[in-house]
Amino acid sequence: MQKKQKPEAMCTFCKKPFGGIDYINHRCGKCEKGSIRSMLRPDDWTECNSCGGTGTSNKKKCLTCDGWGWLNIRNKKISGDKV
Ligand SMILES: [Zn+2]
Ligand SMILES: [Zn+2]
Repeated sequence: MQKKQKPEAMCTFCKKPFGGIDYINHRCGKCEKGSIRSMLRPDDWTECNSCGGTGTSNKKKCLTCDGWGWLNIRNKKISGDKV
């Protein structure tokens, strides 16, 4: 199973990851409330433990990371929120 590429951006409102720098500074198309912020620091993301970074768990989309294989930890560090 191949590991997913690390997302490069995230919505400030719904916290959905976005896999491309083209999205940065645009309005989020998923919640239409937040804007996309770059998440390019090496410590912005951590590999999802549930799927081992593949985005797939038991041949289904991993629910922990929503199929991304990565979890954003920058906000977690700032706000102390649970993911
Ligand atoms: Zn959003
Ligand atoms: Zn996962």
